[in-house]
Amino acid sequence: MVATPFFEIYPNSNPIKREKRKKLLETPGFGTLFSDHMALVHWSEKKGWYKAQITARKSLSLDPASAVLHYAQEIFEGLKAYRSQDGRVLLFRPEQNAKRFAQSARRLSMPVLPEEIFLGAVTELVRVDSKWIPEGVDASLYLRPFMFASESFLGVRSAKKYIFCVIASPAGAYFSGGGELVTIWVEEHLSRAAPGGTGAVKCGGNYATSLEAQALAHEKGCDQVAFLDVIERRWVEELGGMNICFVLNSGILVTPPLGGTILPGITRSSILTLAAEAGMKVEERGYSFDEWQHDAADGRLQEVFACGTAAVVTSIGRVRHEKGEFVIGNGTVGSVAQELRQKLVDIQYGRANDSYGWMRVVNTPKLYL
Ligand SMILES: *Cc1c(COP(=O)(O)O)cnc(C)c1O
Repeated sequence: MVATPFFEIYPNSNPIKREKRKKLLETPGFGTLFSDHMALVHWSEKKGWYKAQITARKSLSLDPASAVLHYAQEIFEGLKAYRSQDGRVLLFRPEQNAKRFAQSARRLSMPVLPEEIFLGAVTELVRVDSKWIPEGVDASLYLRPFMFASESFLGVRSAKKYIFCVIASPAGAYFSGGGELVTIWVEEHLSRAAPGGTGAVKCGGNYATSLEAQALAHEKGCDQVAFLDVIERRWVEELGGMNICFVLNSGILVTPPLGGTILPGITRSSILTLAAEAGMKVEERGYSFDEWQHDAADGRLQEVFACGTAAVVTSIGRVRHEKGEFVIGNGTVGSVAQELRQKLVDIQYGRANDSYGWMRVVNTPKLYL
């Protein structure tokens, strides 16, 4: 896809042995296993982007005064590389991640990484580590591009040095047990994002502030937390790391509108396209927690599901909140969620016709397979 003479490649001299890798890839889990290499690019005010490398994955050494450790100038992305049955290596809409990364950089006052460097880093890393893409159902190589302020300085201003890095983690299903059905906690006090804040960009800080609510949700026996708007504490926004969709029995798919406090998910946007193609009426509009409870009680609400790169499409079967709990539909995986998920993964794994031009093929030398 992208020609990237920009990157110098230094192969890992001590990669994990073939047999061990094969064994590890049988049960990849999520986020604990990593490939042999990483992409690394530096930026300084003086030099701009420099020293772009694919190199052995190793610890980064940071000065304790590095700005990211104090003021949290950090952004990230998440996307996956898939292996198709005919052996091709595919990326799903990676230029959308590159664009969002640029938006996140602007919001956090960081240098904007050119799209071709983002795509080059991801592509070259996948090329070099293509043997790390697991083969099972729903398995993929999860890619985590991120950038942080590396300047040693305690003054408060945007840093003058940054490191951009991409690591790769073979992944199975996101929810342990492969559970495609989760219970969520609706949080009515703690907030994730406010107008004018950073809710619409992907930065580590958003996650840091969502963890207490996530822990509370776990205490309540829930898998995930859903946040409400901060002004009226009425409108449903999204989960800590996934967008949310409601399916009404009149064939309508409702999802909260993007407006600065919701992360514009690439999965969300793709699901809306696929739902419309399947003949559903798609409504991006405010949906209140009251309306949600009301629709669930009178049977108008058929399904609710979460969507995002890591979890793909995951049905929400049960909802808990301070005053009680309720079940969605019959409390099982919804058929609309299942159908949309299937349509999406069929495109991602190269099984279905890519009529929207979403997939990018990474040319991997046979050598690496
Ligand atoms: C990453 C993320 C999503 C999902 O975005 P995708 O592009 O679909 O992976 C949703 N919400 C939040 C808060 C996120 O960080």
